[in-house]
Amino acid sequence: MVKLLFADAHAHSSPTGLGAAEIARRFREKGGWFMALVMLPPWHYGVDAPPGIEMYFKALERFLTECRRAREAGLRVACLAGFHPAEVDRLVSAGMKPEEVLSLGLRVVDHMAQLCRSGMLDGIGEVGRQHYKTMPERLAIAATVTTRALEHARDYDCLVHLHLENAGPVTVDTTEKLVELASAPRSRVLFHHASTRVAKRAGEKGFWATIPGKKEAMRRAFTEANTDYIMIESDYIDDPKRPCVSSCPWEIIDRQLELLREGVVDEEKLYRVNVDNVVKFYRAEPP
Ligand SMILES: [Zn+2]
Ligand SMILES: [Zn+2]
Repeated sequence: MVKLLFADAHAHSSPTGLGAAEIARRFREKGGWFMALVMLPPWHYGVDAPPGIEMYFKALERFLTECRRAREAGLRVACLAGFHPAEVDRLVSAGMKPEEVLSLGLRVVDHMAQLCRSGMLDGIGEVGRQHYKTMPERLAIAATVTTRALEHARDYDCLVHLHLENAGPVTVDTTEKLVELASAPRSRVLFHHASTRVAKRAGEKGFWATIPGKKEAMRRAFTEANTDYIMIESDYIDDPKRPCVSSCPWEIIDRQLELLREGVVDEEKLYRVNVDNVVKFYRAEPP
């Protein structure tokens, strides 16, 4: 019998919530070995700065501290920061002009790419498209920022976590075109919070996907998607007012063990998804 280990391939932590050290402690207790920590929008970090690049720099510093704390608590950690599509809407609503938001978003991902290059970050995320109705120009801004992130993936070997609309194959096919135009390596691109339909198409085309750690979503993905290209995520946001709103990282472990007991998945498949795939995509040192 192999020792079961678990990874959370996309999660957030906040210094105003449990924080990365406590999250890592609870996750390790259940068998967690690896976590990809993705920066939240800057207003989650309690920084005192007007909307603009300084706000991002300050929030980024706090986020990098969170990554360090998770590492010190004994997890292997990948650390990613980007410009979430929802940030476009929030900044425009706060009074910034669309052209200002575009240039800020590009500056932010340019900065994140430099940190990838220097090894402080492993990748850029989240970038992508809004999954809800918004103004067309805001969608265009988010898509342009995403294109820039893909160019950086090509130039600096950054990972990219894409937050997209989950409309099935078309979500993957439209992104594939962008990836090709940017000449970004597919092996570095991940569709986060993917439905089984998106994950299936992504895997067929050599892209990665993370599946939300909900029981039904994992049941479908484990049986229908190509498990050589999927990982599991909590997308935990560490908001004390909304505890475990997507999933808590330790819950995704409990649920995978339930699926194992129910015979939906076997140990070999769990090992592939939680260890082999993480080592491949994140280039993490094996446990
Ligand atoms: Zn997301
Ligand atoms: Zn997320």
